[in-house]
Amino acid sequence: MERTKKFMLPETAIPTQWYNIVAEMQNKPLPMINPQTNEPLKAEDLFPLFAEELARQELNDNDVWIDIPDEIREKYKIYRPTPLVRAYELEKALDTPAHIYFKNESVSPVGSHKLNSALAQAYYNKIEGVTNLTTETGAGQWGTALAFASKTFGLELAVYMVKISYEQKPYRRSLMQSWGAQVIASPSMSTKAGRKIITENPTYQGSLGTAISEAIELAMQTPNCKYALGSVLNHVALHQTVIGLEAEKQMEMADEYPDIVIGCFGGGSNFSGISFPFLRHNLKGETHTRFIAAEPSSCPKLTRGRFQYDYGDEIGYTPLIPMYTLHHNFAPANIHAGGLRYHGAGSIVSQLHKDNLVEAVDVNQLDTFKAGILFARTEGIIPAPESNHAIAVAIDEALKAKEEGVKKTILFNLSGHGLLDMSAYDQYLAGDLSNHELKDEELNKYFERES
Ligand SMILES: *Cc1c(COP(=O)(O)O)cnc(C)c1O
Repeated sequence: MERTKKFMLPETAIPTQWYNIVAEMQNKPLPMINPQTNEPLKAEDLFPLFAEELARQELNDNDVWIDIPDEIREKYKIYRPTPLVRAYELEKALDTPAHIYFKNESVSPVGSHKLNSALAQAYYNKIEGVTNLTTETGAGQWGTALAFASKTFGLELAVYMVKISYEQKPYRRSLMQSWGAQVIASPSMSTKAGRKIITENPTYQGSLGTAISEAIELAMQTPNCKYALGSVLNHVALHQTVIGLEAEKQMEMADEYPDIVIGCFGGGSNFSGISFPFLRHNLKGETHTRFIAAEPSSCPKLTRGRFQYDYGDEIGYTPLIPMYTLHHNFAPANIHAGGLRYHGAGSIVSQLHKDNLVEAVDVNQLDTFKAGILFARTEGIIPAPESNHAIAVAIDEALKAKEEGVKKTILFNLSGHGLLDMSAYDQYLAGDLSNHELKDEELNKYFERES
């Protein structure tokens, strides 16, 4: 019989509901805290900043399934359902008995999974009468996703892009501008926060923390303007569950069920998206799948961070979030997987990790590129540097299966392609990339300053 490479679903199989794992968790995440009142955060506390429906989704610990509005499903049709692919060529190169599958989120027009939440966030803002959005972006993936989503639903978008990326990654800026967004290098003179930083340090190259401050400040000062965030928060993880819900049906088409599910880990949105729909069967005791978050060894919040309340941003504008964190002032090394350079893990994954329901490993930069190159040379797709972390762990597990002589079914999420990250591949191929060893003193210094 002819073997199937890609498992494709029809458009009618685009999920009609997102899966809200919090409603089924025995130990729910601790509440977020409003730092002004020291009380558990209420949805109303978030209304000034986020669309009200998104604020309600953020705190919803009751409804297992949340309907996806037709208008969002209609836009998902631009690229969903995404293919589930059996990585036969990679399996052959590894000579492994393992079956390796990947969910290909790189086929979205922006090249990553981030559009799954950007479309939802733009939609809810639009129907609540918001006219303008602000956000920040580091390497530019989230900014590009929200730029297209904003244009799609008729919103104006201003993106504060970390200055060094603005200069070094001009093509993601061009994408945002092509989709009609206004892109401002941060720090900028357009906000108080930016002016203060520029005055004190005129050559400052910017950081995500500063860009967040600028984006929030502009949103608070502009009528009908709200702010949007691309990872970490519960409502972002919720939207990303379309990945795993589709993959579940596609694994059924392949007549298999994953023993191991893997996602790379920045703030947790794509890992949550591929994992939670499968994890729900573990929660019910029906399956014993392993879930592995793959993080960079230079930003290892799950494997080496502390579980405690911390801010989501560098300045401390956000609510206090219960999470595994390296501290909000931690500055990770400048690795090429820019999307993984975030200090904390979302509160749902943090609780799941604390309860040993998900695992985490960290991978150094050179190993991730080695894995990405092997994947590119076998399966053809140039992966995003972020996705290379998931690929490295999938390869590791496939080689373990070979050693043990057992057939394992491995599923990983290909969160994006790397066609706009070729300068990173150039450096790797030229032997100019290095690993960043992270000493315990470096990890502890911000916590110690506080105590
Ligand atoms: C942003 C990004 C990530 C990391 O973010 P998560 O919220 O952890 O998923 C991973 N891969 C790609 C391609 C990204 O753009």
